[in-house]
Parts: sequence; structure tokens; C-alpha cells
Amino acid sequence: MARSTRMTYFRENIERMGGYMPGHQPVGDVVKLNTNENPYPCSPKVMEAIRAVSEESLRKYPKVHWDDFREVAGKILKVAPESIVCGNGGDEILTMLMRCCCDRDRPLAFPVSTYSLYPVLAQIQDCSTIEVPFNAGGELPDDLFDNKAGLTILCNPNSPSTSLVPVDEIARLAKSLDGVLLIDEAYVDFARWNCLELVRQLDNVATLRSMSKGYSLAGLRFGYCVASEKIVTAMCKVKDSYNLNAITQAAAIAAISDQQHLKQNVAKVIAERERLSQELFKLGFKVPPSDTNFLLAEISAPSAKSIYEKLCEEKIYVRYFDQVGLDDKLRITIGTPHQNNVLFEALINIV
Ligand SMILES: *Cc1c(COP(=O)(O)O)cnc(C)c1O
Repeated sequence: MARSTRMTYFRENIERMGGYMPGHQPVGDVVKLNTNENPYPCSPKVMEAIRAVSEESLRKYPKVHWDDFREVAGKILKVAPESIVCGNGGDEILTMLMRCCCDRDRPLAFPVSTYSLYPVLAQIQDCSTIEVPFNAGGELPDDLFDNKAGLTILCNPNSPSTSLVPVDEIARLAKSLDGVLLIDEAYVDFARWNCLELVRQLDNVATLRSMSKGYSLAGLRFGYCVASEKIVTAMCKVKDSYNLNAITQAAAIAAISDQQHLKQNVAKVIAERERLSQELFKLGFKVPPSDTNFLLAEISAPSAKSIYEKLCEEKIYVRYFDQVGLDDKLRITIGTPHQNNVLFEALINIV
């Protein structure tokens, strides 16, 4: 095609799409409760491991199949090392599975409202989406079962709702599908149960884990997936050649090895989650029980938007979603006791 007649340099779907909108990343002295980071530091062993990275390990290419992480994580999770795939954040795991499973004839299905990256990845992959609203109590909607998608993603526990679907319900969903079911367990460290056993039982199931939330390592960019041999083989075909650098791999091994740090850290967040939930309730918010490190607090008056704006003025950042079904709610990440108190004091004056 002659240059002058070309309409655009880019594929039609890329031209059409807007791209992922990340939560606001303010700098300076603020109370940041808007992107579900963990308020506590990561294990000191992670920093030690980063400092101990050798010149030699940087000179060479890193482990292409993350052998050492797989070995260590396999023991901790009680799964075969070969059933683990690692990604540059859980987000890269999502990208790999989209590449494997979705195209114009194989849509992406997911219950809504949920993680806003899913539809963006569908636009990049140029596949359509099947979006089915969760039932009012957070249960799986009937229309999600038996869908004809190449990939179905269930965020469990879900964001921004904090609900958790029982394992046997998810097993029933997986068995009803022809395609792959990815259970996005980014928040599972704060939840009452997980779906790892389903991966052992069903060859169309994968679970995604992230070190960004439970392990306090959002800046590291490390996530992984546990899946059947079939799914792992496909994912390894489409992954970037050396997708994880040597420093990240060393840090992730140290992080997952320190389960005691994880447990202590998670216990602190959960204790604060329950306290903040009670306090918000006393202020008139409706706060469903949470299996995550955040709360979704509902209020009719004053409006959630006006509360959000007033909090911003005081440099307290929570997440507000300007969309139907969520515009009367605020998503609040659990902070340290001090941060939560600052938020609470501000809310007393606003509400
Ligand atoms: C945080 C998150 C992820 C993965 O995040 P990474 O930082 O890329 O590991 C995946 N899904 C959901 C729902 C999340 O909230």
C-alpha cells in the first residue's frame, strides 16, 4: 500500500482503544489508599537477596524457565515445579493467557464489575468480551456457565467487590466450560480459601498469584501462575524470551521463602481491615465482609464522589469508580493503623 493512502500506522483495534487507566500515583507526604499496595515493608530477606546478586548473574542471561523459583515455590505450594509459570507481575500472566486462548473467534469472558485490565487486554488481542454481572450477593451468575469463550477469568476474591466464591462453585464453572478458566488470586493471601486444588484436578484451570499485594512487592513486578501441563506448555510458547531478570528472580525466591513474614504481615492487615470496617459502619457506610486487603464502602449521602474529592483535598487518596453500580462506593485500601486513623478522622468531618 502506498504510504499516502494508509489511514493509520496502527491496527484498527489499537487505534480504537484507550489503554489501561492506572490508579493515581501521588508523590510526597500523602495517605495513599487507592491501589491496594501493602502498607508494610517486604521481608528483609528480599533486600538481602537483591544486594547479594552477583555480577556474574547479570553478565549472563537469566533462567529462562525460572528453575530456582519453581523449585522453591513448588515445595511451599505442594505442586510440581513444572506446573508454575512466572511473569513480570501477575499482569504478564494475564497477557500470556490472552495470547494463548483468545482471538476474533475466541472471546474473553468475565463476571463484572472486576479488574479493569481484562477488557483492555481483550482490545489488544482484538477479541470480543462476554461480560456478565455478578449476582447481587457476589455469587457467580448463571450466564457465565457454559459460555463459549476461549478464556474465562474469575477474580477471586474479586476487586472492587471484596467477595469470595466457594471452591465447589468454581469447580462447577470450570467443568461447564470448553475453554480455559483462570482464577485470578491476586488477593488470595488475605482470603479464607484458595483454588489450588482445582489445578490438580482439572486440566483447563489455572490460578494467578501476585507478589504485589500480600508480599509488599508491587514495585518488583513478579507474579506466577499454577496450571496443568497443557496450559503451561502453551504459555511458555508465547512468553517473552527472557521475561524475568535475574534480580527479580532472586528477590522472588527470597520473598516466597519467608512465609513467616508473609503471615505476620497479612495478620496485621486483616486486623486493621476488621477494625476499619467496624468504624466505617459506625459512620453510616455499608461495608460487606472482605477477603482482600481493601474494603468497598457504600454510602448514599453525602455522595461517594463528593467524599472522594474532599479526601483528595486533604491528600488522602482512595479509589472512586465513576461507573454505574460503583458510583455510590469507595474502594479503600487497608493502610497502617496510623493511616487508617487519619482517614477515619477526615471522614468524621466529611460525613
Ligand atoms: C494486583 C492485581 C493483579 C496483578 O498485579 P501485578 O502487580 O501485575 O502482579 C492481577 N489481578 C488483580 C485483580 C489485581 O488486583
